[in-house]
Order: sequence, then C-alpha cells, then structure tokens
Amino acid sequence: MSKIQTIGLRKSYGSNEVLKGLDVSVAEGEVVCVIGPSGSGKSTFLRCLNKLEDITGGTVMVDGFDLTDPKVNLNEVRQHIGMVFQHFNLFPHMSVLDNIMLAPVQLKKAPKAEVRKTALALLDRVGLADKADARPAQLSGGQKQRVAIARALAMQPDIMLFDEATSALDPEMVGEVLQVIRDLAREGMTMVVVTHEMGFAREVADRVIFMADGYIVEENTPELLFGNPQAPRLQDFLAKVL
Ligand code: ADP
Ligand code: MG
Repeated sequence: MSKIQTIGLRKSYGSNEVLKGLDVSVAEGEVVCVIGPSGSGKSTFLRCLNKLEDITGGTVMVDGFDLTDPKVNLNEVRQHIGMVFQHFNLFPHMSVLDNIMLAPVQLKKAPKAEVRKTALALLDRVGLADKADARPAQLSGGQKQRVAIARALAMQPDIMLFDEATSALDPEMVGEVLQVIRDLAREGMTMVVVTHEMGFAREVADRVIFMADGYIVEENTPELLFGNPQAPRLQDFLAKVL
C-alpha cells in the first residue's frame, strides 16, 4: 500500500504552473530522493505533501487521508509527517530540549515527563545528548540541523520529508546530518528527500526522481538513473553536478 500517492498533482502560482501533473507513489518504508535543477518545483512538491501549499489540481493521498478533501483534518495529517528544511527554524530563546518538547506537549498534549524522556532519547540518537540545555546559538549548523531532525521525530511521524537539509551547511557538517538521515532509512522510515547530494541519493535511495520544469522527467533505481540516464535533460544535469 502507498504511504504517499499523488495523482495528476498540479500547482500554480497565478499563471505560473510549477507542478504540471505529478504521479508519485511512495511505499511504506521506501526512501525516494528527488533531484533536479533549481526552480524545477522540488520544494513545491514537498510542500504539497503536507498541504503547506494549496493544491491546484489532482489528488494527494497521505496515510489514507485525501489532502484535497476540504473536510480533512490537516492538523491530524501533519502529525504523521515530519519536515526538515534547509534552514532550521529553531526557537532561539528556548533550550534545545524545549525546542524538541514543544510540539508534542502543545499539540499532542502528552505528559511532560514522558515527552522529556523521548526528547532526551532522540537527542542521544542524533548524537547530541550533551546539548539538551544549550541554546541554538551555541550550536554549529550541523548540530542545529540534527536538533531540527530530532524535533521532527519527537512527534513520532511515520513519514519524513527533507528539503535540502544539508545545503546551508558548511561542507564538514554535511556528513553528520546525512548520517542521521541514513540511520532513519535503515530503520525503515518512509522518506522523501530533496537533495543536491548525488552520492547520498545513490547510496540511500530506493528510487530517485528527476524533476525539471514541473515534470517528472525520469525516475528509476539509483543504479539505473545515475548509471544509465535516458532523458537528455537528465544527462545534462548529471554532467553538471557529478
Ligand atoms: P526548487 O525547489 O526545485 O528549486 P521551487 O518549488 O522552489 O523549486 O520553485 C518552483 C517554481 O515555483 C519557481 O519558478 C519559483 O519561482 C516558483 N515559486 C515557488 N514558491 C513560490 C511562491 N510562494 N509564489 C510564487 N512562485 C513561487
Ligand atoms: Mg527548493
């Protein structure tokens, strides 16, 4: 069964159509990486998956919920989906631990002691057990992004979406963040990962989608997509980035 399925997904901003009918399905436990040139619609696609954008046409099913149904409870759907952006958006005035605890306490109304325990375990899992009391400003970019991942995981999502989670990082910090994503993949998390890291996509993805100009131009296993690209557009793109 598909965890995520879009059928003919379209999105326009005014007269500018940026998603031109995307059919994507992601199975439970599958890791799909999305690559493509800047402006091709990758972020817009990801944002449609938890309806951070109004959907212009087609359908988006997530965990059995139809996001284009006006009656769907978006807050409930979004609790199943964790999202990590290029910029971490941590609350600067709160400790790392409080950043992680905020959503589960406020949205899930879970008991604080329990949330705290989970948050500490998550910090340990992303290698930051000693940073619980630090403020975001005291952390490196890579550490902040690992906190942002822990914060998303604190809601116990069954889908994680990553939008260029490493592209704002200094090169030496990319690896530590990719390692956390790699661990999640190994644990069976369903993920859609928009990335510029072709080596990572090749290693971790079950399937890679190449987007250009609002279309899915090609999708395949990483071996075939990188090893035997068919579309000239993809061949050009790979020649530039590899
Ligand atoms: P990518 O993530 O692949 O770089 P985006 O999804 O960010 O691409 O953008 C795709 C297109 O949609 C671009 O032409 C961009 O200018 C346009 N776009 C994105 N967000 C908005 C917005 N909020 N309003 C208007 N146009 C937008
Ligand atoms: Mg983008």
